[in-house]
Amino acid sequence: MRDVIVVGAGGGGPVVAKELAARGLDVLMLEAGPRHADPSEEWTHYENDANNPLSGYLRFGPADRSKPAWYRETPQNSFLWQLSGVGGTTQHYLGNNPRAYPGVFAGYDKEDRNAYDTGHLFPFSYSELLPYYEWVEDTLPVQTAAMGTKESVFFRGCEALGLPLQKTRNTSENSYRPQENAILQPGGFAGKVTGYDDPRLSYPQATGCTFCGYCVIGCKHPHGAPRSLAAKRSTDNSYVPMALTADRWSPSGKPVTLVTDAFVTKVHTEQRGGETVASGVTWRVGETGEEHREDAKVVVLAAGCTENPRLWFNSGLPNPNDWVGHGYTDHFFDWVIGVFDEYTGSSKGTGSSARSDWPGRGGVMNVGVPPALQQFTMTFSDSGIRGQYGNGRGNTGPWDGPMGRLMGPELKDIFMHGIDRMFCMLIMTDDDVEAQNRVTLSSMPADEHGPIAKVQMHGRQRTRRTIANRDYLVRRAVEIARGAGAKQVLRLDWPPLILHVQSTMRMGLSEGDSVTDANGQARWVKQLYAADNSVLANALGGPNPTLTTQAVATRISEKIFTDQFGGDSWVRSEAPVVSTDARVTQGLAALGR
Ligand SMILES: Cc1cc2nc3c(=O)[nH]c(=O)nc-3n(C[C@H](O)[C@H](O)[C@H](O)COP(=O)(O)OP(=O)(O)OC[C@H]3O[C@@H](n4cnc5c(N)ncnc54)[C@H](O)[C@@H]3O)c2cc1C
Repeated sequence: MRDVIVVGAGGGGPVVAKELAARGLDVLMLEAGPRHADPSEEWTHYENDANNPLSGYLRFGPADRSKPAWYRETPQNSFLWQLSGVGGTTQHYLGNNPRAYPGVFAGYDKEDRNAYDTGHLFPFSYSELLPYYEWVEDTLPVQTAAMGTKESVFFRGCEALGLPLQKTRNTSENSYRPQENAILQPGGFAGKVTGYDDPRLSYPQATGCTFCGYCVIGCKHPHGAPRSLAAKRSTDNSYVPMALTADRWSPSGKPVTLVTDAFVTKVHTEQRGGETVASGVTWRVGETGEEHREDAKVVVLAAGCTENPRLWFNSGLPNPNDWVGHGYTDHFFDWVIGVFDEYTGSSKGTGSSARSDWPGRGGVMNVGVPPALQQFTMTFSDSGIRGQYGNGRGNTGPWDGPMGRLMGPELKDIFMHGIDRMFCMLIMTDDDVEAQNRVTLSSMPADEHGPIAKVQMHGRQRTRRTIANRDYLVRRAVEIARGAGAKQVLRLDWPPLILHVQSTMRMGLSEGDSVTDANGQARWVKQLYAADNSVLANALGGPNPTLTTQAVATRISEKIFTDQFGGDSWVRSEAPVVSTDARVTQGLAALGR
């Protein structure tokens, strides 16, 4: 019998595992995918090898790449971008760690309060979450991003609009700024020499980000660095090393037991005192097909926005208000490309190091990705081929020509013009929690883990506020591109690219439209918690979600410790240990990892 079982080792799960293990609890963390223990040997810079959704080393599938990926039904034009493996989807993430806008929390009383999704606020105040933000920012750690050429292009555009520079981590006005990100700043030769094979880009001659431009295919730089000192602080490089070595750096710590290739297929419950109470889980070992059961006092769901509801349904857990799986928000992204005559450095450096914020609307950030992904971004549209099929709705904006995906000579011309003469911006919309955007069980054939998830995103039935927000942000992005000197500006009109996802097991003020209470405990199953993106109450106003997930997961850990184990809270009274602490690195070395 364990104290706590955590299901999933992605953005949220390892936070709970690390925090509770540091306080001496016996924690088992189960992860469906593999642990890439030695990325310098296992990972490449070949984009298809990394990102192919069917066979890449970063995919939603088992460790054995000769076996098929795990399938989810998406009955619309969309791309569901979530990973398995230790680190989960943070293996892909760009490490941008902004805080949510204060207006999405209960108690916000400023003049613009009605600009937000007021029907689905967080059930506590922004000031309540601030110490948890600070705790996570110190732990990862979060730093101001190192700047490159593409960031200077972005800033030029923002200055042309007259936007002020935001100088704090709290955002309450339209503004621009360097990202606060979870990527260690370059040190030594990092960022000063080019060529991946240059020996000066090896640790310890180089530390932190080497500006290689490949954040999205998993960070293994600088070459030879211990895992806990890899530049990008995805959880496989930050929280998981801390969880595994909790006995080395915390006086009362007990290391987490991590089991990979372990797909949880059922959450068990018992009836106690008239209540349904979680009692353990069953998981299937991918390699052998064997099933194991283990019991625990507390079970924490952190399998992501798509798989948590699936596991809930497949376990037959109660769902009296029918909100499990509902409210799947995705920031209704769009993509705006400026084409320049000058060098923009689009493919270099961290994936995104600059942003502009439009509280009540969402965010616009510059993004540079490697060439194959850049191609993908230019061929993904809900408006068909640009200029074909008479798609009149595309001609109504300040961008050049119709919106839509590029094809043929135009695609070739723009691409051959050079990836480093393009400049791309991601539109991150504050989209409303809408019941019809949801996860259910598919009627397609089940896989070895039971009925699969079906993700429905009703792209053309979003609320008027969501659609207006997106349109507003696209127009600002076009102005930024023109202000920066773009010769041509294109709008893609992306279909749902489901990589920022939130709220399918949302916490909320009302029992009528939420799955968990303010502490992350399921309303209808005691001692069962959710602590990943799915528990977020809303789309945060548009900022990237992971920092808020990790702050909320830290708060939930504290509630579990105090409410279920009689412990004391710590976030307001202790100083956090930073994940790059030498004790973590030495602990990993002693474990041979
Ligand atoms: C290209 C890209 C860039 C991104 N950039 C950013 C960024 O810059 N900033 C930001 O904030 N966010 C970013 N994100 C989003 C970020 O990755 C997610 O917010 C974050 O990973 C979500 O954490 P999670 O724990 O909810 O889910 P995940 O990270 O997806 O983790 C869920 C884990 O649970 C495991 N699992 C699933 N089902 C089971 C089961 N039944 N049993 C056991 N294990 C299971 C999965 O294998 C997975 O490891 C990006 C995403 C992508 C794809």
